[in-house]
Amino acid sequence: MALHNLTIQAAHDLLRRGEVSAVELTQAALDRIDEVDPAVKAYVTVCEESALAEAAAADRRLQSGAGVTPLTGIPYGVKDCLSTIGVRTTCSSRILEDYLPPYDATVIARLRAAGAVLVGKQNMDEFGMGSSCENSAFFESHNPWDLARVPGGSSGGSAAAVAAGMGLFALGEDTGGSVRMPAGFCGVTGLKPTYGRVSRYGLIALASSFDSIGPLTHDAWDAALVLRTIAGHDPLDSTSLDAPVPAYGRCRRENLQGMRLGVPLEYFAHGIEPPVAHALRAALDHLEGLGAELHEVSLPHTDHAISIYYLILTAEASSNLARFDGVRFGLSHPLRDAGEEVDVLERYLQTRAHGFGDEVKRRIMLGTFALSAGYYDAYYLQAQRVRTLLRQDFERAFEKVDALIAPVSPTTAFRIGEKIDDPLRMYLSDVHVVAANPGGVCGLAVPCGFAAELPVGMQIIAPPLGEQVLFDVAGAYQATTDWHAARPKIDVRG
Ligand code: GLN
Repeated sequence: MALHNLTIQAAHDLLRRGEVSAVELTQAALDRIDEVDPAVKAYVTVCEESALAEAAAADRRLQSGAGVTPLTGIPYGVKDCLSTIGVRTTCSSRILEDYLPPYDATVIARLRAAGAVLVGKQNMDEFGMGSSCENSAFFESHNPWDLARVPGGSSGGSAAAVAAGMGLFALGEDTGGSVRMPAGFCGVTGLKPTYGRVSRYGLIALASSFDSIGPLTHDAWDAALVLRTIAGHDPLDSTSLDAPVPAYGRCRRENLQGMRLGVPLEYFAHGIEPPVAHALRAALDHLEGLGAELHEVSLPHTDHAISIYYLILTAEASSNLARFDGVRFGLSHPLRDAGEEVDVLERYLQTRAHGFGDEVKRRIMLGTFALSAGYYDAYYLQAQRVRTLLRQDFERAFEKVDALIAPVSPTTAFRIGEKIDDPLRMYLSDVHVVAANPGGVCGLAVPCGFAAELPVGMQIIAPPLGEQVLFDVAGAYQATTDWHAARPKIDVRG
């Protein structure tokens, strides 16, 4: 397999045996970016020079043998909402176009300490708002399996990069599906850990009570390796959990004997394209063949997930995004050196009018409305109550089963332009992924087949802190199937 397509474990074995160097591996990722990124457009910023320097340092570490981790010398990219010291961090927004963070996010610091090599920052829907990567203020990203289609969102650049071999893994942010959904569309493995499992320090917040940072990789074992490195308590994030980090691994079991898997009726009820449903059924049969017991379960408040998600998300986002006002971060409009005296309120208004895109403005208005006097009780408070019901649905289901199996999305990747003028249709493409965030559970998307040559994703959902269960189910599945080993052929001539 070409160097740029390796899994982390395969690359690590080669590095350990000295059959390849970290510099060669990093150069292969950078060459691949040169070759296919003009067509895929996954990266907003590529850090060629610093990546090669970090790779040379990783080679020294590998030669000395001291402090080598499974991620030492492994090239990766991150969604552009994670702060990287001295490397511009834009959230794919005009308002942060030239923003240089003065510090690293905790996850970046941990990957650096492990010796991983940062190759660049990946495109996303502006501030994480979207399901297709078309809401980036800079450019659209393309799905490597079919360049006329979206990679999903909002971590679309990250999923497309991993699928296309531009970095061996990526970190994304999942607030309402943004790691799992593009992972499903691009045929890679994507993890949303339990809220609090991974520190959010240095993540530019979208909705602080939902935001989770997770890896996009080629398989569950790789996801476990990355999670092991980034998880754990962080004094800089008071919501990070003070729970021990297990030695997450691929699979503690040979098969799924005795594993109880729930099939939530509501997730298979309607609106799923027949070829997607077909691939999911085949995956369920496969899991049963591995010894798992399948049980039908019900999550009765699922129908409300989209409404409460969009109420709480917009409320939290409108408040988080208030800090972008031209005073402290990023864009300030009119430009300060234009010499005019500008009233401070006028500066706020103009900065925000010029700096934010339409979807961001729409959500700030919706969120401000939901929080305003008179509407707070009717909308925001009510949504918080239904959020509790959603959480209880999961708790009840997990009394009977160890994990749930669901689709990632009702369709495969849609065409660029197909939903962009219809926000509600766009929101509905997240129907199977949003509940996990308000529900407080963890979830993993893994490829489980193809429909008309486009990847189909299966979602595994486990109780809070049940990440190892996700890896067990996905590990057994991926040890006996090879959907995750498929790589797209990219037609760079466009
Ligand atoms: N599609 C969801 C939204 O637009 C995803 C958000 C996210 O997870 N960042 O809100």
